[in-house]
Amino acid sequence: MLHLSRPLTDYTINSARMREDFDALCEIGGTPEGGVDRVALSQQDWQARLWFADRVYDCHLKQDDDDAANLSGALRSSRPDAKTLLLGSHLDSVPNGGRYDGAVGIIAGLECLRTLHEHDLQLPFHIELINFTDDEGTWHSLFGARAVAGMLPPEVTSEARIENAAFSAALARVGLRLRDVANAKRDPASLVGYLELHIEHGTRLERANASIGVVTDIVGRTTYDIVFHGAAGHSGTTDMYKRRDALRGAAQFITRAHELVRARYGDGIFNCGDVAVEPGKYNIIPSKAELTIELRHVSESLMADMEMAMIQIARECAAVHGLTVDVKPVIHMPAAAMNPGFIQVIESCCDALDLSHMRLVSYAGHAAQVISQVTPCAMIFVPSAGGVGHAPTEYTPWEDIEAGANALLHTILALAASAE
Ligand SMILES: [Zn+2]
Repeated sequence: MLHLSRPLTDYTINSARMREDFDALCEIGGTPEGGVDRVALSQQDWQARLWFADRVYDCHLKQDDDDAANLSGALRSSRPDAKTLLLGSHLDSVPNGGRYDGAVGIIAGLECLRTLHEHDLQLPFHIELINFTDDEGTWHSLFGARAVAGMLPPEVTSEARIENAAFSAALARVGLRLRDVANAKRDPASLVGYLELHIEHGTRLERANASIGVVTDIVGRTTYDIVFHGAAGHSGTTDMYKRRDALRGAAQFITRAHELVRARYGDGIFNCGDVAVEPGKYNIIPSKAELTIELRHVSESLMADMEMAMIQIARECAAVHGLTVDVKPVIHMPAAAMNPGFIQVIESCCDALDLSHMRLVSYAGHAAQVISQVTPCAMIFVPSAGGVGHAPTEYTPWEDIEAGANALLHTILALAASAE
């Protein structure tokens, strides 16, 4: 149990010091458009990691890394049986990404640990801030978090697979081997939980004029490869009513799928952003149209329902145009519920700090989605101006980042105060 010498509201992060960290980080991989380019395991990503390692050292934290190249700074409890509360986010970005995605979670976590260290508190658990490797999926989506959760499928860590060769080489440059990645798995019995502060990537907080979003769930995500097969032919001489045009079937499928999701699954998402057509010539009827589609939903049962409906539409569109269709599921990421106890703690802390807050579902994937399979998780969202994410124009007002960091600090203190 944590004993505080001062009233809880006396504990606040140092905003100016956190701002210095943010500005320093923006310089690493900074782009002329005002964003950052720190793709996982690139030169810029390694520069950001070196910067992080320096800060960890300066803050008197215990530095650590694992076999998935996740890099940590920890504030240690003196209790011999102490478990670990994880804080996390990521320093990597998408190509030509924004300054805020991931970075705010790292600087806020760092500032929380620094503040706690300054107050010299007797913590009931260790607090470890992790920078996850390749959160953005340059190589494998949520790679570092999956490694910690022990959820990387064997095909991802197989050195024998040719498609892993480039990733394997990138890891080898930093002294890691794919086959050792499984060692990064944490024992769930050693963990208290996981907290992450992140930008919303949406406009709900901005529209509600709320400073803090308390995430209740992260949507599930499923992708399918759908291939329509028809027959190639001369575009000019083949009868318009006797064509077996694969792209026409695919186009009708995309349109109907969008309409169905809007009409029947209000909270569901359908996207098709990837179409390959063969032979791919303006004067030949398309014989093959290959699509990758993505579905997102917070309810696993409605997701399953949506998937069945999509397959049915694909078959109907194929039949109407004299085509055949192959449907293959590729990825399924189950929806994840955040821990109800943690959600309440965050909300009480926001109330105590007089911060406006609202509950929301995350439509973007985050480390908590996989880590929630092994330990209780919660996420604190801060607003994204205009809902922009994964672009150089990403922006979050500084006072919202400061509010989020204080909400995170108080959540840690509240969890420590209520710990056994
Ligand atoms: Zn992110």
